[in-house]
Amino acid sequence: LVQVTGVNKYFGDHHVLKDINLEVGKGEVIILLGPSGSGKSTLCRTINRLETISSGDIKIDGVSLPQEGKALADLRAEVGMVFQSFNLFAHKSILDNVTLGPRKVRGLSKTEAEDLAMSLLKKVGVDNQAHKMPAQLSGGQQQRVAIARALAMQPKVMLFDEPTSALDPEMVNEVLDTMISLAREGMTMIVVTHEMGFARKAADRIVFLADGEIVEESTPDQFFTNPQSDRAKDFLGKII
Ligand code: ATP
Ligand code: MG
Repeated sequence: LVQVTGVNKYFGDHHVLKDINLEVGKGEVIILLGPSGSGKSTLCRTINRLETISSGDIKIDGVSLPQEGKALADLRAEVGMVFQSFNLFAHKSILDNVTLGPRKVRGLSKTEAEDLAMSLLKKVGVDNQAHKMPAQLSGGQQQRVAIARALAMQPKVMLFDEPTSALDPEMVNEVLDTMISLAREGMTMIVVTHEMGFARKAADRIVFLADGEIVEESTPDQFFTNPQSDRAKDFLGKII
């Protein structure tokens, strides 16, 4: 479903992604791990084209990411993204936050968009907050709204970049549980996280990046119990 082929990315003369090759199948959950600065966020951002690539190719469901214009907007709608900071529109209600995209980009009517939004808010467990403003919700609730908002675009793949890093500890699990149920429903997901328990539980495959390169790719069991590279051993030694 997602094919990253020979991707290189430079910021000036800093080579941050080095010949990245990654295939993500439909329904697969990939967890990206790696030290700070290894290029995890940059890789996510190139996949929904928030960041241009210097060379290589990225395909979503067989279609190369267009450079610009309507084709890019259409394809970007296939890729949902949830960041560390919730990025909700502060001056719009929860419901409006979720209906905005489907109405503008997918052309849904107000009623259709609201029905969709309510069912998604229910799925992530915050439907009783629909008429509040973002600031009235806890961080965990806001992040679940952000997930519902991304899902409202009916994406083929969801990218998560450290979705729980900005949350108070007691709210981390409610967001991770939401992600696990999404994975169980068959959503294709690429997730950057520092939650190793979650990574081990949710991942079909661990992709370990260091210095802009994919150093290791394996099952969670293999990665956590028997990492092959020195970089991965070093990384795991520091965090576990
Ligand atoms: P972290 O775990 O700290 O979030 P990361 O693996 O997500 O790290 P990236 O944010 O992808 O790492 O950054 C990879 C490298 O690219 C870093 O050296 C960073 O300084 C550099 N970089 C990222 N964004 C930019 C930018 N807009 N301009 C210049 N350099 C950048
Ligand atoms: Mg990052």
